[in-house]
Amino acid sequence: MQIKGKTVIVTGAARGIGRAIAEAFAREGANVLAADLGSLAVGAGADWHYSLSAETELAATAREIGERDGECMAIEVDVSDRASCQNLVERSVEAFGGLDILVNNAGIIKLGRIADFAESTWDRIFAVNVKGVFLMSQTAIPFLAKRGGVIINIASNAGKRGSAFNGPYCASKAAVIGLTQSMAAELAEISIRVNAICPGNVFTPMQFDYLVKHRLQQYPGQSFEEAFDAFVKDTVPLGRKQAPEEIADAALYLTRADSVTGASLSVDGGNGIGLS
Ligand code: NAD
Repeated sequence: MQIKGKTVIVTGAARGIGRAIAEAFAREGANVLAADLGSLAVGAGADWHYSLSAETELAATAREIGERDGECMAIEVDVSDRASCQNLVERSVEAFGGLDILVNNAGIIKLGRIADFAESTWDRIFAVNVKGVFLMSQTAIPFLAKRGGVIINIASNAGKRGSAFNGPYCASKAAVIGLTQSMAAELAEISIRVNAICPGNVFTPMQFDYLVKHRLQQYPGQSFEEAFDAFVKDTVPLGRKQAPEEIADAALYLTRADSVTGASLSVDGGNGIGLS
């Protein structure tokens, strides 16, 4: 699919990887609906274990993209809520006459031992990371089907390989890969392609507000970014972190790649294969 003039929804777009994806599509001439919690963060995201995007961040992101990169509209959504997903898709149809591309990027994480992991935290991870993909996709499919549409799910390396103290998140991202493959097989006959991207280590707020603090105590005396870089150098074959823009490049590629469906494209510096 050519991108110029097409309409794309990106969830979790206020910051991090989602923001870079929204910017990239806007620069390519797409009509972008940047969707995130916005003022809903006060309710839906307020009690999470690290700060989700701040109330005003979504509007600021959309304004900056609009001024610099191209067409961008901010819409509030909680992807775990069906009515909220429906509202987002309806706004796309109202504003731009339909929908061509859906990027399911919103996601959350919480580390912990399975032995004492809170059930409510497990449920919220699955509500956002897995059910969110289901609800957004189900709502968008009738509109995507009219246009030979594209769905891109931001899964993770963690969906291809489990790791200690990260069971719920790994399980949720494995579910996203399974859902991606199933939807790809099912929706091919109505000309919708469905692919996933599996990022490796991207230094976004999810990493620097939460993961680095809780995982990288072996690099004392270093800033979060230094510790992150040292960790990546020590554990990833290419020794480098991924830029949000590299994940966005993969999203542009998967949008244009008319023969690719059901793929889970790792953009991870070889993290998935490991060093030995
Ligand atoms: P981030 O926390 O910086 O951004 C995630 C965004 O999702 C935030 O703006 C947050 O407000 C939004 N969000 C959370 N719950 C939501 C909900 N219910 N409805 C709508 N929006 C919601 O994280 P990021 O690193 O940019 O992650 C983006 C995606 O990439 C996630 O799915 C994440 O799991 C995945 N990922 C990240 C990395 C990494 O290293 N950063 C690696 C692999 C996969």
